[in-house]
Amino acid sequence: MTPLRDSLINLLGSDRVLPEIACEQYAYDWWPVAAKWRNQGKSPLRPEIVVRAKEVADIQKLLGWANTHRIAITPWGAGSSVTGAPLPLTGGITLDISGLNNTIAINIQNLIVTVEAGKMGHILESELNQLGYTLNHSPQSLDRSTAGGWLSTRATGQFSSKWGGIEQLVVGFDVVLPNGELVTFEAGPRMAVGPDLRHVFIGAEGTMGVITRVTLQIFPQSKHRILHALAFDNLSDGITVMRETMQRGLRPFLLRFYNPAESRYAMRDTGFTKCVMFLGFEGEPSIAEAEFRVCQSIWQQFTVEELGSAPVERWMQHRFDFSTVENILRRPGGLAETIEIAHYWDGIQDTFDRLMAALSTFGIEVLAHFSHTYPQGTSLYMILLGERANDADAEATLLQIWQTAMRVTLDTGAVLSHHHGVGVVRKDFVREALGSAMIVLDQIKDVLDPNNVLSPGKLGLNPDQTIQSG
Ligand SMILES: Cc1cc2nc3c(=O)[nH]c(=O)nc-3n(C[C@H](O)[C@H](O)[C@H](O)COP(=O)(O)OP(=O)(O)OC[C@H]3O[C@@H](n4cnc5c(N)ncnc54)[C@H](O)[C@@H]3O)c2cc1C
Repeated sequence: MTPLRDSLINLLGSDRVLPEIACEQYAYDWWPVAAKWRNQGKSPLRPEIVVRAKEVADIQKLLGWANTHRIAITPWGAGSSVTGAPLPLTGGITLDISGLNNTIAINIQNLIVTVEAGKMGHILESELNQLGYTLNHSPQSLDRSTAGGWLSTRATGQFSSKWGGIEQLVVGFDVVLPNGELVTFEAGPRMAVGPDLRHVFIGAEGTMGVITRVTLQIFPQSKHRILHALAFDNLSDGITVMRETMQRGLRPFLLRFYNPAESRYAMRDTGFTKCVMFLGFEGEPSIAEAEFRVCQSIWQQFTVEELGSAPVERWMQHRFDFSTVENILRRPGGLAETIEIAHYWDGIQDTFDRLMAALSTFGIEVLAHFSHTYPQGTSLYMILLGERANDADAEATLLQIWQTAMRVTLDTGAVLSHHHGVGVVRKDFVREALGSAMIVLDQIKDVLDPNNVLSPGKLGLNPDQTIQSG
């Protein structure tokens, strides 16, 4: 046994320390580059050891000990990140929190649920559905991600245009700080007692603390839904309809608009040539109907073809399906990637055009849609599909694609990531993206984690002084 394994078994007990063979499994998340590494038998970001915590005290003990001995710890929820976020940059210990997976309390009067941070999304949603409630947080990865992971990546679900991202849906949480101390953030329905300190940990990707318990809003399940599909001749008309819909105060729970390449997939029709929009309103029937009618008055100013509800119903049934990307990545040389960004309404078309031009030079198919919308702007989500001679070529192309896409994103004033976060793939762009705000992030990290033990090197923090592992 290695000295590190010995020490951890002494500290936590042998049932908390996974066998050596498990390290391989924690060397890959859902980042397509990691899929290409796996195909090639490479694991450059492999932990030295994996600890699976079963109670909060395990995490407190581990962090306190690692801080003293300056050993790197990288938290792991369910490993569904698509950016390399839970992969350790400097080896050390991966801390799997999936053993903390209980539902602690459901409070119907206050409409909140409290769970341990390793609770899987689909299990929680199913427990709530049995009582007639829902999270209204529905990422495509609902069945492969945890509540703690959602907070740590600032995740957002497919219905966010009405219900908001996780930062709006979270009420409070517990965090173990890098020195092992347990801290509770409880905001009630709203709080004006100093800055909202929760945001130091929301989106921190495991660099500031380990989230152990989460309280989220819940909602009665909607009794009424209106679904409708529209086809536009061009992209700009549809973008205008999205903008006006949000700026008139309407809140569709579903608002997705696809470029022609992705419309063919969305419509399951290889001959489809237009841009399709999927719309959905829900809630009190009279309110949903009224919102739908106002939205109708907006789209009727444009040339649109009405396609009814069937295409959207089909999408709702298959909305967790990721098999197109998964199947391509499994193939030798198969290349598939997803990149999401955001911009204000007055900048999104230019960013889109320049990204399409830059990415088409890679000889790949570029599917694109706008799916999380706000009065001020929208997300842009691209799915890139292609083929290379072998996995090494595909890996190299994926990394070039990211460099190109992030460069265009920043050069056109867009936001570096809308919801997949930074991970490994975007870490070198964070300083530029945050600009003068980076000094605050640096200083918070220095105070909370002076020994740079938690997820060293992530979020563009301390890039040149990552610590050595045990
Ligand atoms: C098919 C597919 C579809 C997806 N769709 C969406 C989508 O619709 N919306 C969306 O937002 N994302 C989506 N994602 C990305 C991913 O699911 C999210 O980033 C998710 O929030 C990650 O949760 P996780 O529990 O798997 O965390 P992990 O991937 O294990 O970890 C993510 C990051 O959070 C940190 N972390 C995890 N748990 C904790 C904790 N308890 N305390 C502190 N740090 C922690 C890790 O160190 C890492 O930096 C998708 C991914 C896939 C594979």
